[in-house]
Amino acid sequence: MSFSDITGNGRIKKILVKALQRGRMPNSLLFSGPQGVGKIDMAYVVAKALNCLDREDDACETCSSCVAINKGVFPDVMRLAPVKSVLKIDQMRILKEAAYLKPMIGRKRVFIVDPAEAMSREASNSLLKILEEPPLFSHIILITSNPFVILPTVKSRCQFLSFSPVSRDDIVRCLIEHDLAEEKARILSLLVRGNLKQAMNMDWEEVRSQREKTWQLFLTFLHREPQASFFKEFSARSRDAAEEEMRPTLELLASFSRDLILIKENADPGLLFNPDFESPLRDEAASIRTGQVLALLDRVEEWLLTLQRNMNIKLFMSSIIVDAMESHNV
Ligand SMILES: [Zn+2]
Repeated sequence: MSFSDITGNGRIKKILVKALQRGRMPNSLLFSGPQGVGKIDMAYVVAKALNCLDREDDACETCSSCVAINKGVFPDVMRLAPVKSVLKIDQMRILKEAAYLKPMIGRKRVFIVDPAEAMSREASNSLLKILEEPPLFSHIILITSNPFVILPTVKSRCQFLSFSPVSRDDIVRCLIEHDLAEEKARILSLLVRGNLKQAMNMDWEEVRSQREKTWQLFLTFLHREPQASFFKEFSARSRDAAEEEMRPTLELLASFSRDLILIKENADPGLLFNPDFESPLRDEAASIRTGQVLALLDRVEEWLLTLQRNMNIKLFMSSIIVDAMESHNV
């Protein structure tokens, strides 16, 4: 994989390419951003470009260095991963000892620490000195999707690069390149909130059945039918599991509501988030007032915001039920 194979985050690519061309790649880097947007891939391209035998500002992918790094057998590129979810001080000791030794076969040593938030406090503190004054031939790339838990003393010693979610258009393009039909690609891109990796790993059949289930739930909201069994199902789960499933469900509910509004407003069908539901959406549009759908969309968006806050899942569910009952009186 070279820079051109990474979808999205063009601004960061430009910064890194320029740094490589000038021979001024910072020795301490912190790649921060949501999961699945290519931070690790970017770190490996940097590691390859710093050691590539043919190119200075990218990975050629064919020289012996690039090939060995891709296989994970290049001695100067090391990835440190947590053991039982913690990156320990002993692992940092290994990093530091290696970082002060000249590269064995490459031009630069590169250490990729992923995820950096798994570093214990002692492990973080033990890195401060080397992050502050790294040997010129060693680069440390910390990767995180949760920059708020990285110690400020660590952050301030690194060049901080903030990755963005991958845009929907980029995700669609990438999925189509991987042989997914355009309509399916558009639907998946809606569900993953910029997480390209998740989009690439999704199983279409599973997505299809989840959307069918949510469509039925959407109908109960529209027709003011009880949703008790649905909420009961969620209330019985742990907060994390409930949130993980609740969020896509709410996002789908919002997308069905938006589509219904688009149809009520006679918008171009090409704008629909759920083009495969166009016919049932049209059936519903015939009997529902726009105001009712707008009220439902408002509520769903409010629930999504509430879900982001760290609140008890049972309380959250009962607040949704009360809200849903009130919406029936709109
Ligand atoms: Zn190469």
